[in-house]
Amino acid sequence: MTVVSVSMPEELVERIDAFADEHGYTGRSEVVRDASRSLLGEFEDKRLENRDLMAVVTVIFDYETTSVEERMMGLRHDYEGLVAANFHSHVGSHYCMELFVLEGRLEPISTFVGKIRATQDTLSVDYSVMPVDEFGPAVPSE
Ligand SMILES: [Zn+2]
Repeated sequence: MTVVSVSMPEELVERIDAFADEHGYTGRSEVVRDASRSLLGEFEDKRLENRDLMAVVTVIFDYETTSVEERMMGLRHDYEGLVAANFHSHVGSHYCMELFVLEGRLEPISTFVGKIRATQDTLSVDYSVMPVDEFGPAVPSE
């Protein structure tokens, strides 16, 4: 195995160590390997490949963090064909919530979510993906 050096906040390292202890991992390396595998495997779902999908992505950031807001606007413009709807709202006492409804294929959706996640200073990024090509009528017509 290759030994890599990764920078992360002290607080995250402490959480990883506590998680390793609580869940019987041999150490932080094993936790990081496991987490990396699940992140990489997340968008390799065969059931979602080559299908029409929709995704809902929500991003929470601090009211004051205008860099995140600018980045969100940039992504909305760069991915105009993918973003079906976009909504900005204020939640809690001083948080902004950006919601994106995406329509497209797995690859651009995963790229978009990746770019959101890579944005510095967000507080939370959440998303769900579902196919929209096979909704049958709830009640058979006739
Ligand atoms: Zn705002």
